[in-house]
Amino acid sequence: MPTGSLEQRYSPLIILLLVAALVAVTGLWATDRAGSVDAASEQAVEAGSQQQFHWKMVTTWPKNFPGLGAGPENFARYVNEMSNGRLTVRVYGAGEIVPAFEVFDAVSQGVVDAGHGAAYYWKGKIPASVFFTAVPFGMNAQELNGWLHYGGGLELWREAYAPANIIPFAGGNSGVQMAGWFNKEINTVDDLKGLKMRIPGLAGEVFAAAGGTAVRIPGGELYTSLQTGVIDALEWVGPYNDLAFGFHEVAKYYYYPGWHEPGSMLELIVNEQSFTALPDDLQAIVTYAARAANQDMLDEFTARNNAALQELVEKHGVELRRLPDEVLLALWRANEVVMQELIDKDPMAAKVYASFKSFYDGARAYHHISEQAYINARDVVLDSELEAP
Ligand code: CA
Repeated sequence: MPTGSLEQRYSPLIILLLVAALVAVTGLWATDRAGSVDAASEQAVEAGSQQQFHWKMVTTWPKNFPGLGAGPENFARYVNEMSNGRLTVRVYGAGEIVPAFEVFDAVSQGVVDAGHGAAYYWKGKIPASVFFTAVPFGMNAQELNGWLHYGGGLELWREAYAPANIIPFAGGNSGVQMAGWFNKEINTVDDLKGLKMRIPGLAGEVFAAAGGTAVRIPGGELYTSLQTGVIDALEWVGPYNDLAFGFHEVAKYYYYPGWHEPGSMLELIVNEQSFTALPDDLQAIVTYAARAANQDMLDEFTARNNAALQELVEKHGVELRRLPDEVLLALWRANEVVMQELIDKDPMAAKVYASFKSFYDGARAYHHISEQAYINARDVVLDSELEAP
């Protein structure tokens, strides 16, 4: 077999192999170069991001309290997981670092990095804060979330808290609450006269204007206060959270609807310097962890409230009562007076009210033909189905 013919026959293959080898080597070099660039940028990112941050978060809730107390715990867990431990958040219950009603000042002064509670606890310092928790006969959870995130509410909240060096986020929602636990029946407006009730926020002022006496007590002291007769009534949250506190052991009647808190939003507050010290990605993680914790709380209450109510009524013999329309109307009228006083004396409250009221009017009009119309229609068809022979 002549070698020439062999070479002739294989030379294209050899050239091909040479080309392939060249391509491979070039490719490897290119890949290596790209790898070096990637490694370098990763190192740069890591150098910037390896800094760890450890936040302390105080709350107005007793430690390990379900429902409301799950808000800060979930937020902490989401942040720890999403940041792979680069930002850790340690949650402290009421009284562990500061008492419940000193959460705002502790965050404001940088004693701690963050806090969880309810904005209306601070109405003595910032009158406009009531709009960011609950307004009597105001917006429900769905409406409030819409106003906050797409209706300008959050910007106003941040404006209101900026002088205190605090950045607020929505930190959960209870959904519509219960009117509360009473040891006296409420049949007429006169039954409110002289009634001592724990009822915070603007609703406390409304309750007082309607003839009652509003008392401000942190959650952890409520059971004893009702048991010992320091108060005649209290409102806390709704069936799931109220069952956990055991109020059914010290009160007879459980009234609805929660006219005073139709969809209470909780707050997650962050010290401004603690927040701005974070790199951009950790700031984003804080922002989206708060958003997730906000929605999760509403989901949990939605899922658990009915089972808790059934347990209260069927197992513990709680008497469920609806507030009479006459009483609701009197509270509404008192609310109109209190709201007017609030916006007359505080310019920021007036500014927030204008935004809130505009969104509220629109949401209410739209819900006439959407949520409300649907719920009514659902009852009409299902109830007629039940009544059918
Ligand atoms: Ca409440």
